[in-house]
Amino acid sequence: MTQKQTSISLGIVGAGAMGAGIAHAASASGIDVRLVDAREGAAQKACEAIGARLDKRVEQGRLSAGEAEGTKRRLAAVRGLDELKDCDVVVEAIIEDLDAKAGLFEQLEDILRPEAVLASNTSSIPIGALAAGRRHRGRIAGMHFFNPVPLMKLVEVIAGPDTEEAVLDFLVDLGRRMGKTPVRVRDTPGFLVNFGGRAYPTEALAIVQEGVATPAQIDTVMRDCHGFRMGPFELMDLTGMDVNFPVTRFVHECYFYDPRLRSTPLHRYMVETGQLGRKAGRGFFRYEPESEDVAAEPGFDAEPTARVFVHGESTVLRELMAECGAEQLDSDDGRSPILIAPLGEDCTAYVCREGLDRLRTVAIDTLGDTRSRVTLMAAPGAEESIRQGVASLLARCRKVTLIGDSPGFIGQRMVAMVANLGCEMAQSGVASVDDIDCAMRLGLNYPSGPLEMADALGVKNIYLILQQLQALTGDDRYRPSQWLRRRAQLGVSARVL
Ligand code: NAD
Repeated sequence: MTQKQTSISLGIVGAGAMGAGIAHAASASGIDVRLVDAREGAAQKACEAIGARLDKRVEQGRLSAGEAEGTKRRLAAVRGLDELKDCDVVVEAIIEDLDAKAGLFEQLEDILRPEAVLASNTSSIPIGALAAGRRHRGRIAGMHFFNPVPLMKLVEVIAGPDTEEAVLDFLVDLGRRMGKTPVRVRDTPGFLVNFGGRAYPTEALAIVQEGVATPAQIDTVMRDCHGFRMGPFELMDLTGMDVNFPVTRFVHECYFYDPRLRSTPLHRYMVETGQLGRKAGRGFFRYEPESEDVAAEPGFDAEPTARVFVHGESTVLRELMAECGAEQLDSDDGRSPILIAPLGEDCTAYVCREGLDRLRTVAIDTLGDTRSRVTLMAAPGAEESIRQGVASLLARCRKVTLIGDSPGFIGQRMVAMVANLGCEMAQSGVASVDDIDCAMRLGLNYPSGPLEMADALGVKNIYLILQQLQALTGDDRYRPSQWLRRRAQLGVSARVL
């Protein structure tokens, strides 16, 4: 094995969803592949399915016949592990079971050349555990692809305790040859993406659990105000609750029940009741052909508020009011709505701190993009006519999401949690700052990486939101990462080392 050797022969064990995907992506990028599976005929079937997909792309004019033929020629189904003996590297993608994978590596150790690389596509088994007891531990590493492999650009290259630097370089090079963006990751639970990806769904579930907002409201806010391509609930429905719930549980347990990683009873309930998402026709939303689309957002038909008093310094709020055509009072007239723009506080906490009239105060989220949608909330018992009047006023120029009182609305607490987990990964050295941001963009389709997100919205803002959330809820789920605290206190970027 040398890093820059020109031709590579890749063995793949396991011809399921992942093994077949890796075989397709590798052979399409010029690598010779031998695919094997313990199930009789499974590898052959996988190669035929890849061939059929290639033929279809040729028919559609999306691939040349020559390229398709070349890919098929480089792909071979073989019948036994012995036929992998000349491979430079073997990636295993068999069932997720430590004994099965360790047993496979033990067999491969006797078959392959001592310098051949052994990589595992495991999602959750420590690479160190797979290497333990092996003769040449230095050549064992993780190579974690994402489903569907031919489309997903990211691959995590994971170092076990003894993995040699040259082996990691080789796998990074292999990933690049396959057209992927490799990131180097430490051997920690969930590696990078499956750990960093826990904040987005679990905080969304926490907001629903508290009765603050519906899944549809949370999804629209995350898409419209924070640029996520998919809201957390449609994303969970797409991956399937049978996949995302066990991963969430696994990571939570591995981190000794750190409350930052905690999910809610609703998550388990969705699995128990078979509401698994798209694949079941039903998850947080319905996908049966006859079912209605997500309910339309309610309109606001109350008389729009004419006059408001904006409390505090928010220029975003003042500009928004000007755009909607509201007269802005210089002081509270004792009758008109009072508008506030809290960071991390709910309306109740702000009103009590500032001694405002709780009946007339409405809070508006000004963090994130407010050009198409704004989120409103009020304290318990607030005048319904005031809430509705402000919503109608804003509905003149924005879409409006009206939610229950919540520290950090929807968007603030969601992005603060994503950013905080990103900071925690940086602090514990799961990967480099660049790789954390890159992996979360490519692996999860986030609009930006978690540290980039903290910078864009203000490191101090994110820190303040988390401090407020922790203080108001008493829940250590919201405790700020020390990485974030230091950079907020110093007033520097979340990406500063
Ligand atoms: P799968 O069930 O689709 O395929 C597993 C294949 O391995 C089957 O064809 C099975 O016959 C074969 N197999 C089982 N034991 C074997 C053995 N001892 N020798 C040879 N073949 C054997 O599973 P999958 O979804 O492709 O996942 C494979 C691995 O990739 C797992 O470790 C999983 O955690 C990991 N992974 C899965 C995903 C995903 O989204 N599915 C993503 C990343 C990583």
